[in-house]
Amino acid sequence: MTQYSTLESTRNFIDREHRMMINGHWCVANDGKTIPFHNPATGELLGKVPAASKVDVDIAVRNAAATFEDSEWSRMKPRDRQNLLWRLADLVERDRQQLAELETMNNGKLLSTSLGDVQFSIDFLRYMAGWATKIEGSALDVSAVAPPGEVFSGFIRREPIGVVGAIVAWNVPFILACWKLAPALATGCTLVLKPADETPLTALRLAELVLEAGFPSGVFNVITGTGIEAGAALASHPGVNKLTFTGSTAVGKQIGKSAMDNLARVTLELGGKSPVIVMPDANLSEAAQGAANAIFANQGQVCCAGSRLYVHRSVFENVVADVAAIAQSIKLGNGLDATSQMGPLISSKQVERVGAYTEIGRKEGAELLCGGRGVGPGYFFQPTVMVNVGQKNTVVQEEIFGPVLTALPFDTLDEVLDLANDTAYGLGASIWTSSLATAHRAIPKIKSGSVWVNCHTALDPALPFGGYKGSGLGREMGAAVIEHYTEQKSVLIRA
Ligand code: NAD
Repeated sequence: MTQYSTLESTRNFIDREHRMMINGHWCVANDGKTIPFHNPATGELLGKVPAASKVDVDIAVRNAAATFEDSEWSRMKPRDRQNLLWRLADLVERDRQQLAELETMNNGKLLSTSLGDVQFSIDFLRYMAGWATKIEGSALDVSAVAPPGEVFSGFIRREPIGVVGAIVAWNVPFILACWKLAPALATGCTLVLKPADETPLTALRLAELVLEAGFPSGVFNVITGTGIEAGAALASHPGVNKLTFTGSTAVGKQIGKSAMDNLARVTLELGGKSPVIVMPDANLSEAAQGAANAIFANQGQVCCAGSRLYVHRSVFENVVADVAAIAQSIKLGNGLDATSQMGPLISSKQVERVGAYTEIGRKEGAELLCGGRGVGPGYFFQPTVMVNVGQKNTVVQEEIFGPVLTALPFDTLDEVLDLANDTAYGLGASIWTSSLATAHRAIPKIKSGSVWVNCHTALDPALPFGGYKGSGLGREMGAAVIEHYTEQKSVLIRA
């Protein structure tokens, strides 16, 4: 097997005995159980992490609650939280290569993609560091009935919500950990994070960096283990004041129900089936490349991947042929190999899932222009383009979460906007056109949390990200995220 060169610190981190981080200590599971994690490019076992049980989760939540209620952290000034977050961003920047290598070896994605993910996380940590000192309430004149001569004044405080329970997916593990950590710590909450079963490594390294940055122990806790045990225990723990979940819509609905049982606050970042619309007046070669990037980046394992391509009938054949040609030219390979253009899927289970969807597509009458098969060793899947599909076909309606694109023609803008909105999801959408008027007509009609014009999956820390419809509740990033990590307290003072 080819050996790729990595930092010594990356190899040392992978080879060590992995524990989870509770209250500043590395812990094994109470019952000693572990779960394995693998390198998707080779299928080899990379290591094992503790499989947290209900008991471990309870210890983590109780410590997070104690830290929130009465500790150096609970008394810390906003400026000091800001400085700690900024310091953490500096440490992530210092270790960006190691973090990216860990991500690639654990998730499979290209090293260049991992480096991009780490850079985006640094930017987001710094963006949220700035928010720590800008969380404001308001003061107002009140009209409450009062005895004559008495004066009331009212104001509203924004306070941290308390203990945050965060459960995340495996597709962008480091970004997702930072998406939860940064607003929680900027607002003064404490956090218990459960990374995905498959991808615990960068969350564990982040826990170390959080301590090195100088955050008090107990502020950021990482429990590892399965969704069914550790995740469910965290979601149903009465000591969690807010749940934030990134993952599938099916599990997200269960998390939402658990949250309601405890009346915990909840935000859900769920699945997608995002449309890419190509108008006849678009720069067509840019649009074809953009459509290919929208679905094949990160092996199609992106919540807002452009998995449904709609091209105006007059240019359909040419654009789709170009996308298929790009797909066929993509070189699959280990993410650590600089010549690879697409890495493996996360697991053999995911290869089976994507293969099964491709089979369903065939049975529903789709024609495969390219791809359609898993390729070993490792968990690779060929970039796939399907045509002759109908809007109601399973492969057009359901999230596949792999490098599979369906392409359909359309005749009018109104028709394609109806098609774009016709799934259970509403996370992202892109429209490719040279007409500002067309873009402005389309934007208000598209039912999704993000709309991109002449680009796709373009994110910025200052722009809220989240879903309409089955794609979730609430927003990550931007000023909007502060509301999800704080409560409002109304104060009335009789002078
Ligand atoms: P998943 O829902 O299977 O798992 C996500 C997390 O939930 C994992 O940590 C898992 O261990 C945990 N989990 C599983 N069952 C649980 C249960 N019963 N109780 C509590 N926790 C449980 O999703 P996945 O397969 O890891 O990720 C893929 C999905 O995530 C896709 O649908 C994708 O679109 C979505 N996603 C969304 C966003 C977004 O921002 N909207 C970002 C990334 C991924």
